[in-house]
Amino acid sequence: MTCKDCEKSIGHQQYRESMDSLGVQLCERHTRLIKKVILDNNTPLEAIHLFYALKEAGAYPMLEWWDGKKSVDIAISRVKLNIEIDKDYNMITHEQAISDLEDAMHSFKNGFTTVRIPHLAIKYYLEETVQNILGIISGLKANIKAI
Ligand SMILES: [Zn+2]
Repeated sequence: MTCKDCEKSIGHQQYRESMDSLGVQLCERHTRLIKKVILDNNTPLEAIHLFYALKEAGAYPMLEWWDGKKSVDIAISRVKLNIEIDKDYNMITHEQAISDLEDAMHSFKNGFTTVRIPHLAIKYYLEETVQNILGIISGLKANIKAI
């Protein structure tokens, strides 16, 4: 078994520990690093799962990327794509809803595309979610070339 981040080989106990706490097989160092990212940014676990799935698919994602104003859950910088994971639609307040839209408008003005993905899509359809994001990436790439 190897760490999904650095490919260092890991033992059974470390495998269990990382799977139980994060749901991703990681070495001791990366388990610690990811736990710190979660603590610092309140990152949803689904963002961690999507990050590693995108990494595996060769999309070169960045976790909790600082865009100058706020931390973005996942960013694909070469196509200026920001991915935000929506935790719970029922929990969202009207202030949050309009503030999310304003954030999306500001990043769009700076040439960034923001995609919001419900956490349930990642939880139940991780493979399809990754395929759709890969589709968005190639669409954005084509647009960049066209300009
Ligand atoms: Zn590692």
